[in-house]
Amino acid sequence: MIRAHGYAAHEPGGALVPFAFTRRDPGPGDVVLRITHCGICHSDERAVSGWMPSAFPLVPGHEIIGEVTAVGADVRRFRGGDRAGVGCLVDSCRACPACDAGDEHACHQRATPTYGGRDRITGEPTQGGYADVLVVDERYALRVPSALDPAGAAPLLCAGITTYSPLRHWGVGPGHVVGVAGLGGLGHLGVKFAKAFGAEVVVLTTSAGKAAAAIELGADRVVVSTSREQMRAAAGSLDFLLDTVSAPHDVNAYLSTLRRDGTLCLLGIPAEPFGITALRLIGGRRSLTGSAIGGIRETQEMLGFCAEHGISTDVELIRPDRIGEAFDRMLHSDVRYRFVLDLGSPN
Ligand code: NAP
Ligand code: ZN
Ligand code: ZN
Repeated sequence: MIRAHGYAAHEPGGALVPFAFTRRDPGPGDVVLRITHCGICHSDERAVSGWMPSAFPLVPGHEIIGEVTAVGADVRRFRGGDRAGVGCLVDSCRACPACDAGDEHACHQRATPTYGGRDRITGEPTQGGYADVLVVDERYALRVPSALDPAGAAPLLCAGITTYSPLRHWGVGPGHVVGVAGLGGLGHLGVKFAKAFGAEVVVLTTSAGKAAAAIELGADRVVVSTSREQMRAAAGSLDFLLDTVSAPHDVNAYLSTLRRDGTLCLLGIPAEPFGITALRLIGGRRSLTGSAIGGIRETQEMLGFCAEHGISTDVELIRPDRIGEAFDRMLHSDVRYRFVLDLGSPN
């Protein structure tokens, strides 16, 4: 077993405190990473607050960048000293049609989540990247282009692929008007990708104070979604809307911003179910859909796209003793745009 040190919550809603645990002994297909950076995703806070009640003690973190310190005898894609990344999954069945198609995140036997799951080899709980070391099969590790800054690359492994994948799937490009609701970790990357794909981009935000920053990120227009007037003026204007809002909100109001045949894609995961007014869909033949992360192949493609187009995450780098403050500020939409733990510097 490999000894690991991380930050765990011991019960739902508990503070993240230093925690010693073990990782599996690396097998022939495994790489060992010394973790240097881990992004703080809104889903981490949700997990700590009790999303998966059986998963405690819980070390969150699925936006992981590290340096390869050891490789098994069969590893082909990594060597010691390489930079590698790990996102939301660390294993899957490898045999079902989804895995065969490179959609491991949609594995019919359920992919093994980076934390809150069970290691397929040892049966032990999986633990995430708010830690110093990780063991993972190379098939689920990403090569990180050297052009990418490691802190800015970490959030690409969840927030990045989660916004890149639906924009690709629904063929967003020149001539499309794309809305991004919620300018947080996911949202700000959604703006950068939609812009890079050639779309006209409209940010819908509850934070009027983020308007200037949204334009700087590349948005063409900003709609303050708490303003009825601005929402009314935006009615029927969007071809596609990425909804990254983390909290309960009136999705009907956002559906109204779509043109005929427009699509609203849910990415955010509000805690409560919500109601849809049928006429919001029927009237404009609109579609309501959703999307979750992406497979390993597409994540690798996305990292290459970012390196080629100079796309990175805007991060606020913090030391692990400030995780609690970071969660709190994230819950108040007060981060531009992603906290990233600096795990590489000596404490
Ligand atoms: P985040 O950084 O906290 O951003 C969420 C944004 O939502 C906030 O910055 C805020 O933007 C907006 N918002 C918050 N409360 C709101 C409200 N009451 N009404 C309207 N807008 C509100 O979170 P994130 O890490 O980007 O994650 C966003 C959501 O996606 C979370 O629910 C997370 O669990 C989920 N997620 C899903 C996937 C997936 O695979 N689908 C992957 C990762 C994360 P403004 O200040 O601009 O209004
Ligand atoms: Zn995430
Ligand atoms: Zn599978």
